[in-house]
Amino acid sequence: MQAELQDQGTVREPPRTLPVTHTADVLVVGGGTAGVMAAIAAARNGAETLLVERNGFLGGAITAAMMAQISAGAPAVTGIGRELVDRLNRMGGVEGDFLIPIDPEAFKLAALEMLKEAGARLLMYTSVTGAVMEGQRARGIIVENKSGRQALLGKVLIDCTGDGDVCNWAGAPVQLGREGDHKMRPMTIMFRMGNIDIDGMVRYARAHPEDFSPDPKYQVVQPEKGLVRMVGYFSLVQKAKASGELFEDCHYVRVEGVIVDRGTALINATRVYSVDGTRAEDLTRADLEGRRQAFQVAAFMRKYVPGFERAYLAETAANVGVRETRHVLGEHVLTEEDIVTDRRFPDTVVRSFKRQQPGTPSHSPDAQEGAPTDISARSVIAPVIGFNIPYRCFVPRKIDGLLVAGRCISQTHVADGWTRLQSCVWAMGQAAGTAATLAVRAALMPREMTGRIPDVQATLRAQGMGLTDGDFSWKQRQGETA
Ligand SMILES: Cc1cc2nc3c(=O)[nH]c(=O)nc-3n(C[C@H](O)[C@H](O)[C@H](O)COP(=O)(O)OP(=O)(O)OC[C@H]3O[C@@H](n4cnc5c(N)ncnc54)[C@H](O)[C@@H]3O)c2cc1C
Repeated sequence: MQAELQDQGTVREPPRTLPVTHTADVLVVGGGTAGVMAAIAAARNGAETLLVERNGFLGGAITAAMMAQISAGAPAVTGIGRELVDRLNRMGGVEGDFLIPIDPEAFKLAALEMLKEAGARLLMYTSVTGAVMEGQRARGIIVENKSGRQALLGKVLIDCTGDGDVCNWAGAPVQLGREGDHKMRPMTIMFRMGNIDIDGMVRYARAHPEDFSPDPKYQVVQPEKGLVRMVGYFSLVQKAKASGELFEDCHYVRVEGVIVDRGTALINATRVYSVDGTRAEDLTRADLEGRRQAFQVAAFMRKYVPGFERAYLAETAANVGVRETRHVLGEHVLTEEDIVTDRRFPDTVVRSFKRQQPGTPSHSPDAQEGAPTDISARSVIAPVIGFNIPYRCFVPRKIDGLLVAGRCISQTHVADGWTRLQSCVWAMGQAAGTAATLAVRAALMPREMTGRIPDVQATLRAQGMGLTDGDFSWKQRQGETA
């Protein structure tokens, strides 16, 4: 394709006709965990399914951003997510009772295999750059890849881009970040350290509980069960900052995704604020700043943190981790009140759980995470709250032929702090993929499926997904929490 330079401010692209290179019943856009689950669910239920992803591997935040840990209750994962976790275990992954450190390399292969077994097709290395419309109905997407610019059509589209890209291009209303000021949760470059002396790390944690979160399901010190997670090092961070060795917004360090017998851990500590993940310039800035911070934090760990004296920075994430961008506005906007009151909806298609104190924002955009004012990191022992997500949160307003699943569903900024966890996002994917297939089968628009929710719920249940407390094993065990 050639474009013509008009003047220094504009380039003229001639109109052209694009080939339709792929068609599908269900076209899933974005191969993060929501997209993977949606595509498996759609294909298993009999839809001809195509999953499109810009990276050369699947997983999104769990692999590209290296956030390889499910932290909100292994027993809270049901359905296809449960199968995936079981498969990861068989591949030598690790699973705890309420914390699942995941080997991202195992995840990449397991996701590919499960999609293939389900019969879903894949198109990777392909970026989605626009929507194909027929009036107010989304009919497909425009993509760019090595083969050029093409159109792909689907009977139902599911936007799992995390950023609501397809919904945005299709013209569905969206809300960027927090209501009012549009600020978003900070971005993070995750990194992995190797050669950690786990015994040394654990000894320090046991000797200095005051230096960590008091919440025993947040600060986890059970190496004998393969479960270790550190949230704190408050005094050590303070000391390093006093001598100018750490960036200003660093108030604590989270050591996560610990694989005890390998002596490896993911370090979740870099924070880049006031950046917008829907702008390439901001992503570039966050990447640069995040990588700079990552090297500072790794040096801090080696110098100050017992157990890390001989550790090394093994790998940084391929992509900066984006926690929040657009919330697509749908037929219901999930609120924190819906969550903390455990509101029941006739069209509930996801039941999930999170350990969090109501009213304490998670990863606030206000740069105070881990600081003495952050009571959720410093003093709270948070309850586990179960909540429901209605199907209407997946149905964008105004636009037909389209569903949304994953972190960009219809919800407020605060509600997003509850639903963004992997365990919840996985369930959203399965719910959306299942509903999309039933819509195709019934020749209905996704919006019209609100009249057929009992069918969706029955199919989800029959395929192992928990929709009420009784479906979750940990709920049946006396006194246990996720
Ligand atoms: C740094 C960080 C730490 C986190 N910590 C935890 C934690 O401890 N525990 C937990 O449970 N959760 C955690 N989360 C949250 C959780 O990982 C995410 O909310 C969840 O993985 C989002 O899944 P998703 O599929 O909706 O989106 P993503 O994982 O973002 O997937 C979106 C996919 O779409 C693709 N895509 C996007 N745009 C396009 C396009 N235009 N064309 C083609 N493909 C596109 C992307 O490449 C990606 O693969 C964390 C997230 C981050 C970023």
